[in-house]
This record gives sequence, C-alpha cells and structure tokens, in this order.
Amino acid sequence: MQFSSIPGIVDLKKNLVQAYQRNHIAHAQLFSGEEGGAALPMALAFATYLLCENKTDEDSCGECDNCRKMQKYIHPDVHFFYPSPRTEKEAEQNIQARIWREFLIDSPFGVLEEWIERLSSENKQNQISKNDARQIIKTVSMKSFEGGFKILFIWYPELMHPSAANAILKVLEEPPENTLYFLVTFNYEGLMSTILSRTQLVVVPSFKDETVRDYLIAEKGLSSAQAEKVSKIAKGNIREAERHIDSEENIAFQDFQKWMRACYQSDFTSLTQLSEQFSQRSKSDQRAYLSFGIDLIRNSVLAKGASDLSNSKGEENKFVTDFSRVNGIGSLEKIYSELNSSLVNLSRNANAKITHLALSLRLIGILRKSKAA
Ligand SMILES: [Zn+2]
Repeated sequence: MQFSSIPGIVDLKKNLVQAYQRNHIAHAQLFSGEEGGAALPMALAFATYLLCENKTDEDSCGECDNCRKMQKYIHPDVHFFYPSPRTEKEAEQNIQARIWREFLIDSPFGVLEEWIERLSSENKQNQISKNDARQIIKTVSMKSFEGGFKILFIWYPELMHPSAANAILKVLEEPPENTLYFLVTFNYEGLMSTILSRTQLVVVPSFKDETVRDYLIAEKGLSSAQAEKVSKIAKGNIREAERHIDSEENIAFQDFQKWMRACYQSDFTSLTQLSEQFSQRSKSDQRAYLSFGIDLIRNSVLAKGASDLSNSKGEENKFVTDFSRVNGIGSLEKIYSELNSSLVNLSRNANAKITHLALSLRLIGILRKSKAA
C-alpha cells in the first residue's frame, strides 16, 4: 500500500511524511477512523514509506526490495496482530496469517465482519488473545531482520482481551529503539484508558463524497453519473461503495442471464418485458448494463483457450464457461459485435426499448444457428 493508492486525505499524508523527516515519529500511534475508511491503508502506507529505500518527499518508491515485500505483506520486520479465534497450533496460525495477507491485498478497506467471514469463524470468539500478547512481547524482544524499523500492527485493539492489553502495557510504553506500534482502531471510545494514554492519536478523516466519486471513476471504471450516485449512498465509506457496486453488478448479472436465456428459448413474452425494463433504466445505467454484458461475452471468448485473461469469478464464471461451451467462436464474436453496435446506437440517442428488442431478435438468430450447429 502506498499513499498514492489512498485517494485524498492530503494533509495527513503530509504530516506523516514530515514526522519522518523531522525524526518525530511517536513509537506508538493510534490510527483512528471509520470502518471502511482509510485508517488501515494509511497505517500500511506509512509503514511502507518508513521502510522504503528510495522514498521521495511524498511517497514510497513502490519498487525497492522493501516496497515489494510490503506489496505482499511479507516484510520480516512487519508483524500483524488481529482478532481471530484463539489457537496455539502453529499450522493454524500460519493459515490465519496467509488469509490475512490475502485480505490485506484484495480488501485493504475491509472491515471486521468481512475478515471474520473469510476466516469462517463467525461462531467463534474473535479476539486478540493473551497468546497474541505473548507473541507481541516476544516479537519486540527480537532484533529487526533488516536493521531498520520493526513495526507491529494491532488491528482492532478494542478487541484485545483485557488481560492481553494489560500484558503489553510495559512493552507499549518502553519499546526498544526503532520499534513502532501502529494500532488501528474504529472505536476509539472502546479502548482502555491505559492504552489510550500510551499512544499518540492519529485521526484519519473520512473520505469526502467527491473523493469517493473520483476513486470509483479511476479505480472501478464507473461513469461519472454512476460514481456520483454511488458516492452519495456510500457517505465517505469506500468499502460501502465497493459493496454497492458488487450488488449492482450482481443485479446486472441476473438480468443478463435472464435475457440470454429468453433469447435462447425465443421467449417473446419475457423479451418484451425485459425490453420494457431496460428502457426504464437511466441512460447511463443502460450503457453500463450493455458494457457489463459485453465484458461477459468477451470473457466467454477468452474461455475458449485464454481463460487466465478472463476477470469473471464465481457465478459469473460459471455462466461464462457454460455460454462458451454451447456457442462457437463465430457466434460469440457476432454477439459481441451486436452488443457493441447497440451500445454505440444508444449513445447516439436511439430509442432504448426498440434497440433492446431489435438486438434481442438478432441474438435469437445467432443463438438459433449455434443450437443447430
Ligand atoms: Zn521503496
């Protein structure tokens, strides 16, 4: 994680860089923010910055050895502690650590609920245990591998068992040189006062609506109208925005599947209804929906021999694989080009209902030939 991967929050990034430049880094920092916000990414980006061998006045380089290790979260001097079901078995701890690294890589804005879901530990007590506290004390006593900073992350310190919190107070207060603690909390008030008094508070502000909007356009490929809509709903919570997009995509997927099935079965009643529904979407939603379909067909072509290039997952991937199996490459290419021309027509203000219905009729023709072949 680099500062540049976190949209906005410019002042805090500057303050963190200056703290390093002035050699004023508090050894125990409490990053506090809203769930789904930038508290964890900011702490990760700062850790990467501190370890980077070629840092600039703004950010880590993203290319040196340490940066590369931080991209995969395998830097030997960065240690993570997080709520999880208690286990003393090393094999189980290693599995948790692997899932944690995956979680950081694909969901840095993720929240506790998602983490617990990944661990499949919904029915267990997830906390930072006394065993973790022992591990923290042991880690602090070890020398750093690379001779630079050693950084211990504690994610959700509010879920530290009180005896664990008490056990680490001493090392939290008097760590060896170059040892840093980054505590990342989402419930500042829920922390023990003994922890609060030993840490320096770093308030990580929520994202502004326009920051979320720009992020969705740049990183998620949304149109500006869609991004505007989603950013208003998400209220500064990037994770919420991402989840919203996922659920919209899921609806688009269900609809697209229904549509293709109706074409395949020449089910004119359903097709008329679907055209009506399509025309009721906003113009930008109509285009987004067709683009989504184009993407699925593109992946169906790729499934014919280059499936590693496809970006479909889960249910979508099942559809793509099946669709690719029942249709020849020629048919898939025709469907792809028909969807594309309809997309172009729509952006030229063609009537949505007629465009959808005419497209459906052409798809019926293509799929019929596929069936016969
Ligand atoms: Zn670097």
